[in-house]
Amino acid sequence: MKLITILGATGSIGVNTLDVIARHPDSYRVLALSGHTRLDLLAAQCLAHQPRYAVVGTAEAAATLKAKLSGLPTEVLYGTEALAQIAALPEVDTVMAAIVGAAGLQPALAAVRAGKRVLLANKEALVMAGELFMHEVQANGAILLPVDSEHNAIYQSLPAGYAGNLADVGVAKLLLTASGGPFRTLPLEALEFVTPEQACAHPNWVMGKKISVDSATMMNKGLEVIEARWLFNASAQQIEVVIHPQSVIHSLVQYVDGSVLAQLGNPDMRTPIAHALAYPERIAAGVAPLDLFAIGRLDFHAPDQARFPCLGLAYQALEQGGNAPAVLNAANEIAVASFLEGRLPYRRIADVIAATLDTIAPTVAADLNAVMLADAVARDAATKIVGHWGS
Ligand code: NDP
Ligand code: MG
Repeated sequence: MKLITILGATGSIGVNTLDVIARHPDSYRVLALSGHTRLDLLAAQCLAHQPRYAVVGTAEAAATLKAKLSGLPTEVLYGTEALAQIAALPEVDTVMAAIVGAAGLQPALAAVRAGKRVLLANKEALVMAGELFMHEVQANGAILLPVDSEHNAIYQSLPAGYAGNLADVGVAKLLLTASGGPFRTLPLEALEFVTPEQACAHPNWVMGKKISVDSATMMNKGLEVIEARWLFNASAQQIEVVIHPQSVIHSLVQYVDGSVLAQLGNPDMRTPIAHALAYPERIAAGVAPLDLFAIGRLDFHAPDQARFPCLGLAYQALEQGGNAPAVLNAANEIAVASFLEGRLPYRRIADVIAATLDTIAPTVAADLNAVMLADAVARDAATKIVGHWGS
């Protein structure tokens, strides 16, 4: 029986994780869950899974949740410290890190420092602090398994036990697939007027709002390039983005002998979640088998830089190094939140990020404090820029 903490249980990844776990009650048990604003859902999850702890953001939210859980043995905690605490509980084997954005970094790091098996959905943690994060994984003997579908596909397509040197195992390139999102074929002029609802209507995946907008701008793929850089110790030149609208091939690894290995499946996050949960074993995930006859064809295109400037900005930040990726991530979070709140036109998202990167002098990602400072400074700068350009 494996005991599990789910950070971000009320989100899209969290809900899918609980779905997979519920299919295997003899193998997995939930010890702790966290949520933030969706307290009714968190209460329902506590009723169904009877965790020992539930964590929310504030004292007020904790009081509300407690009232909903009267009679249950679940202890309700709140705040950042409590997230770190449930990530590091001695009895816990596995931590699903599925909080969205920069808020997920410190709890994920707490799980790593406690030497847990960490299933990483929160890509922003690696974008902000990749070098430090990977160092802590090594130093604490944590096991890091990628849940992001592309990285999970690459993990599956690399030799088992891959130790962090692509050349040693004959890999020439990592090919990250991208659907191109809902605006892949929209006339460029029409991008001026797209709404948050349109941006969140992804053609293949059902996801949280922030990552849905990131998929529309392709910043999601930019963040994933940086995520791949750290997870697999690949250079920017070794990572190529391929638009593949059907989202059936989740990514590929190209070897020096001309072989290309890929992982395919229906676009359903329960597959990478189940893979990471059970690795190196395999468990049922509730995902329908892939029907190649129904799919019929698979298409591939090069990304269009004019349509997706965010992708170029991510490569730029990766090349700049230091805290530039943390700045990129913070500016993106501010710009996307502003767009979702109707305060910033869609096309300005990339402009806000570019201007924030230009405004902030490069700094070294010396430690977590330096990363968090860069994050805070970038949020301030991006908020001011949105103020100039927003409506
Ligand atoms: P959601 O927005 O659906 O869920 C986010 C989760 O984080 C919720 O549980 C939310 O709580 C919680 N949360 C939000 N803000 C805070 C905060 N400040 N402090 C603590 N908890 C917070 O996101 P997704 O599930 O879509 O994505 C989660 C992560 O996984 C992201 O990093 C994303 O990039 C990554 N990912 C997601 C994929 C997907 O298919 N959804 C695919 C690949 C990666 P509440 O809802 O209660 O407010
Ligand atoms: Mg992905």
